[in-house]
Amino acid sequence: MSDCCSAPGLLPFEQALSNMLDQVSPVTETLCLPITEALNYVLSENITSPLNVPPHDNSAMDGYAFSLASLNSNKTLSLIGRSMAGAPFQGECKLGECIRIMTGAKMPNCCDSVEMQENVAVDGDDITFLKEKALGSHVRKAGEDIQQGQKVLTQGHKLTPVDIGVLASLGIASVQVYRKLTVALIATGDELKMPGQALLSGDIYESNSFVLAAMLEKLHVEVIDFGIIEDDFEAIKSAFISADKQADAVISSGGVSVGDADYTKTVLDDLGEIGFWKIAMKPGKPFAFGKLPNSVFFGLPGNPVSALVTFHQLALVALSKMQNSQGLNRTVLQVKCSTELRKSPGRMDFQRGVLSINEAGESVVSSTGAQGSGILSSLAQANCFIVLPSEQGKVPAGELVTVQLFDQYL
Ligand code: AMP
Ligand code: MG
Repeated sequence: MSDCCSAPGLLPFEQALSNMLDQVSPVTETLCLPITEALNYVLSENITSPLNVPPHDNSAMDGYAFSLASLNSNKTLSLIGRSMAGAPFQGECKLGECIRIMTGAKMPNCCDSVEMQENVAVDGDDITFLKEKALGSHVRKAGEDIQQGQKVLTQGHKLTPVDIGVLASLGIASVQVYRKLTVALIATGDELKMPGQALLSGDIYESNSFVLAAMLEKLHVEVIDFGIIEDDFEAIKSAFISADKQADAVISSGGVSVGDADYTKTVLDDLGEIGFWKIAMKPGKPFAFGKLPNSVFFGLPGNPVSALVTFHQLALVALSKMQNSQGLNRTVLQVKCSTELRKSPGRMDFQRGVLSINEAGESVVSSTGAQGSGILSSLAQANCFIVLPSEQGKVPAGELVTVQLFDQYL
């Protein structure tokens, strides 16, 4: 694996992403789960409908079912029976006759239309139809939602709450899905303390693993949190060995720069096949990716915004591939920028922005302000990334820019 720190210049973002995706493989193990436990799992099979939904023609209204041809000669029909939801009319009806029918009840074979009860006059068993009707009025046709044999969900689809309902409506009680990934999280840094602990001089609170664990939960993976590991070669090495034994992916934050306490590179040179990349992205630059004996490794920068953005833009995409998921489908728009954006050419920027509708009804984006890689609050205020290409310089207010809306993970 190439060491891109030694290569001249920075690795373009797209190349880093595609290099990484080339090197991760989707899991192959599957399991069968009842639909009540399958939410957020990735389907390992295509689902085709075993039946028509609805399974039979039925009434969309409480009213009267009849054959439209009956009304050609006489607007008054004789009531000869009832069809209720779950208790269909069993007999035969002829021209000149009608059936009392309730919403969802099966259409009698001899009827093709329904009139709502508000539009008839009832005199004993004589039902007079007061309005002109069209053939098929108020009838829900068998299969109008889903047809038997139709492909409903495809392999690689991550099951949503609505999908679970669709599966139930097809009478499918269990599905074949890919197993969950296990991801180990390691925060490195002598200065880090857990929330709840007292800070000593020079300490800060550890936040990266909290953000990452929450995002990984949304991705639907098992998280093993190794907590804070001190900046010490042996401590980091033993955490990485233990994480590698248990997880499909190991994610660390911090220690990927070239400072005196940055041991990630030396440990990983010892254990696996690791590429240290300087990616032409901002925030983010230092990022490590590679393979440990049993797992893939993502080494995120320590700065909270850099850690989060590299995780979101790079690691999450790779983990999604490893899950067999069809993709993250991020929404990208071109909108006018209402503020000037500071930028120097050379790196692709993921600036934090707020997308809104201005008084003229146009979609516009503005910067959240200071864009430092330690300013986590800039991400908390934002609802999108303003994605500026590497070669782009300063952006004057009023220019069109590309915006990537925050997805469910942020
Ligand atoms: P490093 O990449 O280890 O040099 O860290 C860069 C910056 O990020 C330093 O200011 C660290 O204190 C900070 N940092 C590193 N890890 C974390 C973490 N887990 N949570 C919050 N800040 C961190
Ligand atoms: Mg550090």
